[in-house]
Amino acid sequence: MSTMIKAIRGMNDLTPEHSAGWQYVEATLARLAHSYGYSEIRFPILEQTALFKRSIGDVTDIVEKEMYSFEDRNGDALSLRPEGTACCVRATLEHGLLYNQIQRLWYLGPFYRHERPQKGRLRQFHQLGIESFGVATPDIEAEVIALSAAIFKALGLSGVVKLHINSIGTANTRQQYREALVAYFTPHKAQLDEDCLRRLGTNPMRILDSKNPALKPLIEKAPVLLDFLDDHSRLHHTTLLSYLDALGIEYHIDPYIVRGLDYYNDTVFEWVTDALGAQGTVCAGGRYDGLVSQLGGDVTPAVGFALGIERLILLLETQASFTAITASIDAYLVVASEEAQTAGLVLADKLRTQLPNLRLIAHCGGSSVKSQFKKADKSHARYVLVLGEEEIRENTIILKFLREERPQQSVNFIELLTILRDH
Ligand code: ATP
Ligand code: MG
Repeated sequence: MSTMIKAIRGMNDLTPEHSAGWQYVEATLARLAHSYGYSEIRFPILEQTALFKRSIGDVTDIVEKEMYSFEDRNGDALSLRPEGTACCVRATLEHGLLYNQIQRLWYLGPFYRHERPQKGRLRQFHQLGIESFGVATPDIEAEVIALSAAIFKALGLSGVVKLHINSIGTANTRQQYREALVAYFTPHKAQLDEDCLRRLGTNPMRILDSKNPALKPLIEKAPVLLDFLDDHSRLHHTTLLSYLDALGIEYHIDPYIVRGLDYYNDTVFEWVTDALGAQGTVCAGGRYDGLVSQLGGDVTPAVGFALGIERLILLLETQASFTAITASIDAYLVVASEEAQTAGLVLADKLRTQLPNLRLIAHCGGSSVKSQFKKADKSHARYVLVLGEEEIRENTIILKFLREERPQQSVNFIELLTILRDH
């Protein structure tokens, strides 16, 4: 026997026992995005590497060490998409969708980062992306945050996630703030880990993003960005908070949220949980007014977030109601004779046409009636339909109830339709 070829580490298969749960989550997300007036956009999994270098920033974790980049056969520099915002902006610009109009868009799909795989951290993971373009006022941030809150509510997770919010002001504010941070951390250089030492020289705000618990006390005493905001940013921030108050959305003002990506300004937010260890951020987003022009478009205000589906599902798996979601079978058709084989195929086809919501498995493979019944039982179907020589002669079907105390019946096609439809 030859050896088996395995999947790539950190890239998971979705097996049938889990796919019904995923479908339920995806349908819920699509329904909510739809109800807020967002339209779906899809773009390729591969893009030019330059798109991510220019948007995400050269000195971020993603571009420095997490991208799957390679040269294709033409020598073009390509990367598997590590996130969606840059792709979404590229696509909207390419199709002229931002010209003098507001756009509300969503997407859901796989993204790729070469990280150390662990619980809630994969190399192929999935995100729901929400992006809105063309509105500069904080009402749009309130809308986007309300949509994220509605998602957690619809999935019964309001009690396990918390909204953390911050404002990181303008590029100018952050320049002053960076200088203040360098002045603060430089005398403590000896305490910093390798990553943070590097960040001190390249992007000192990302020291605040550090997940090293040993640095927590030092980081907690660092200057706070909120104290550096200009009047415009301050008003924007307080107005947004007043909208969230009006909507009854609870939040925690968190000066340590600076986000790993370079393109944010003013509002940044994360939904976090204690239930997933170090991978506690389920959803993250903010305002990114500079990105569209950075990618060659006209200056366009923009707000969005990305929700990690694997982390969302891990959270849901802590809820008993979610683990109960499986794709159940309604009916299993047993063919009790060779003759019934053809009639069975035809009957199954007619039933599926008449009852589009019916989930029917027709037995294939021709084993004994006994073994077909075993399979029917294992499928957890509600009903077993039996077709034998006698039934074909008399134009009837035997209907057995697997989950009710009810005697089996011999019914004609119309009667069968009525019973299955009522169910
Ligand atoms: P982290 O700090 O956990 O690395 P991040 O800041 O890199 O997260 P974002 O780029 O903001 O993450 O992505 C938004 C969301 O996507 C995250 O909050 C998380 O839920 C999910 N996500 C990001 N990277 C991964 C990954 N490697 N595996 C699974 N989910 C991920
Ligand atoms: Mg990351």
